[in-house]
Amino acid sequence: MQPVRRRLTGLLAALAVLVVGAAVAAGLQLDIADDLPEAEQFLDLEEAGTASADIAGEVQPEAPAVPAARRLGVGERDPTGVFRNAALWTAGVGGAVVRDGILEIPVCWLEPEGRHRMGRQITRDAVRDTWERVAAIAFTGWGACDPQAIEGVRIRVGDRGPRSLVGTAAVGQPVTMLLNFDFRSWSTACQPGSGRREWDVCVYSLAVHEFGHALGFEHEHDRLFFSPERHALDAAALRDAMRQCIRNFVTRPSMSAAEAAGTTATVYDARSPMNYCFDIYAERAMLTPIDEATVITMYGPRPAP
Ligand SMILES: [Zn+2]
Repeated sequence: MQPVRRRLTGLLAALAVLVVGAAVAAGLQLDIADDLPEAEQFLDLEEAGTASADIAGEVQPEAPAVPAARRLGVGERDPTGVFRNAALWTAGVGGAVVRDGILEIPVCWLEPEGRHRMGRQITRDAVRDTWERVAAIAFTGWGACDPQAIEGVRIRVGDRGPRSLVGTAAVGQPVTMLLNFDFRSWSTACQPGSGRREWDVCVYSLAVHEFGHALGFEHEHDRLFFSPERHALDAAALRDAMRQCIRNFVTRPSMSAAEAAGTTATVYDARSPMNYCFDIYAERAMLTPIDEATVITMYGPRPAP
């Protein structure tokens, strides 16, 4: 029995090496799965000090009304990606104001470092090229965070899995988004000189993804794991979509069924930058027509200048 067992052990060890090898080869996709929107993820990021409890003090009563968000029923077929209904920013919430018909959401960097200037610039460009280009929203400020004014989106840069609170879950939180510009210990394929991924493409695409969360988007692939009403795919198309997810090591949703019930979504968007089952690092992430329709549904179209 001994040799058989040894052979079996050897076989299992070889299998384990194969699995680990495949995982390392696809490390990017595995790592990106660290990016979870749950608030608990922020516990170890929280700084000393309490969040502002006086959000109502930010209300701008004279501000013109923002176009009302149109919330679709689950059965409606308008192309809409997946977003959290109750997490949309409005004027007066978390420091957001309306100016010239555009909802402005403050954003700042926590302890910005000089060596990250390029990363911050690419992040700014990514948000302007995508979400701000089509919808009546703008992220404003982009300076160093004021420890006395806890509002809007507050970004920390660190060498860990990027993540963001979803929409107004950020309100009152001292740290609401984590971005990575170094890639020395997380997604090392994005490290400059690795020869595997373009650093600036990684930074850009991650910014598009995380600011999608900041606006209220959930992960597009999550809906594949819930009822057919949430993905609107027939059995064959669902199987194909799931196969793509498994190739990218996505085998479970990152939101709960209860959270899924609080989202709006119609057709599945296989190429959205909010979708883990699509390689967002292959090139600079672009919004799909469904992403564009979705963010317009959420915040209205960008007014003509
Ligand atoms: Zn995400």
